[in-house]
Amino acid sequence: MKAVGYAAASMPTDTASLPTICAACRSPGSLQLEQSLEQGVLRWAESFTCTCGHGFEAKNAGLPMPAARQALMVAHGKLRVFVDAMPKGGRALSVLAKVLDAPEAEVASALGRLPALVWEGTRAEASFMRQALEKSGATVRVETVAMKAPAPRPSAKRGKKK
Ligand SMILES: [Zn+2]
Repeated sequence: MKAVGYAAASMPTDTASLPTICAACRSPGSLQLEQSLEQGVLRWAESFTCTCGHGFEAKNAGLPMPAARQALMVAHGKLRVFVDAMPKGGRALSVLAKVLDAPEAEVASALGRLPALVWEGTRAEASFMRQALEKSGATVRVETVAMKAPAPRPSAKRGKKK
């Protein structure tokens, strides 16, 4: 079995926090979140500590909970991963089905017309997708999506007075 080289498959850990309520004393606090790409593996971690002494830590490989992903995107940007081109009969389709955890037929139909948007998520997730797809021969493009807070706009004013 040949080892798969992921020389550049790591990136700095991204962090974010999520407002939460202590399960023990009901005080408001914040859940600390981390996401990283280490040796080609997506990892997440979350931890909570309260002044009352309650706390916990959890970590795993794969995707964190949706609220954590959202907080990471707000903190570090949201990225879209596009497949621009894919070699015929290559491994890209099965690789993509695996990383997206979707049936191959579904992925094939999503990629019926290129370029195709295949993922929208955090920096670590986009790096992971890009690496996996480029290894399989696909031409990949990653775009950063602006995530600005909605600008306050006067809605009830009409006309301008001078
Ligand atoms: Zn507490």
